[in-house]
Amino acid sequence: MLHPWYKSWQRTIFCLLLHPLNRKPHPQEAFFLFLKFINMSTSKYKHLFFDLDRTLWDFDTNNKATFSEMHEKFQLVARGISDPVTFYANYQKINFALWEAYKKQTITKEVLNFKRFYDSLSLYQLDEPELAREMGAYYIAASPRQTILYPGAIEMLDTLHKHYQMHIITNGFEEVQFIKIENSGLGKYFNKIITSERAGFKKPDRRIFEFALNEAEANVSESIIIGDDPEADILGAQLIGMDQIWVKHPPLKPNKGKPTYEVGHLSDILKILQA
Ligand SMILES: [Mg+2]
Repeated sequence: MLHPWYKSWQRTIFCLLLHPLNRKPHPQEAFFLFLKFINMSTSKYKHLFFDLDRTLWDFDTNNKATFSEMHEKFQLVARGISDPVTFYANYQKINFALWEAYKKQTITKEVLNFKRFYDSLSLYQLDEPELAREMGAYYIAASPRQTILYPGAIEMLDTLHKHYQMHIITNGFEEVQFIKIENSGLGKYFNKIITSERAGFKKPDRRIFEFALNEAEANVSESIIIGDDPEADILGAQLIGMDQIWVKHPPLKPNKGKPTYEVGHLSDILKILQA
C-alpha cells in the first residue's frame, strides 16, 4: 500500500502537468500546491468532533424504517392506528417535547422512553402502559440496527481520517449510539466516542465539550465541531470558543448565532478543511 505522502505527491504532479492550458500557476496557487507536495495541511485544525444523529446517521429515515417494523410487529392497524406516517408524525412532536425535558434533567431516560410511546398511543384513546413499555424496549433495540447514513458520509470520512484526529460527541443514549456507530461502519474512523451519559452533561452544556477535549487531549483552538443542531452543537461549541461547521440537514431548526461555517452537504466539508 502506498504511503499517503506518496499519494499526495503524485496528485500534486498530476495537477501541475494537467493544469488548464498549461499556464503558470498563480503564486498563491503554487504555494498551496507546494504545501500539498510536502503533505502539510493548510488547515489550523487537528481534531474534528462530529455529532452523530442527523449529521452522519440519517435519524429520520432510519426511524421511519423502525416505525414501519413496529407497526407490523405490534399490530397497530388492529388497534385502530391505520396510518404509520401520521402515528410517527405525532410521536415526533411528543418525543421532541420529552427530549427537551430530558435535556433539562426534569425526566429520566426511562420515563422518556416509556412516555413517548404511551402518550402517542393515548392520542388513539389507547391506555396501554404494557404495550408502551414493549414498544419502547423494541425501539431501543431495533432503531440502532438501521444503517442509513447521509449521502457522502463515508467518502468524506475516508478522506478526512487521513489528515485529522476524529471523534464523536453525542447526546444519545450510551447503549444505542455505540451500536449505531458499529453497525453503520463508522467505528473505524473515530478515536473517542463521547456520549452525554458518560460525560454527565448534555450539549449545549460547555462541560461536555470540556470533557471531550480532555478525552481527546485536544486544545480548543485546534478543534472544530461538525453538527446539525444550532443549539446543542453550534451554540454549545461557541460557549467554549470552539469553531463550528453547521450541517444544514433538513428539517432545519432556527439558527441562534452565526456559525463559523455552514454547509448544505457533507461533501462541502472537504472544501472547508482542504482535505
Ligand atoms: Mg444531531
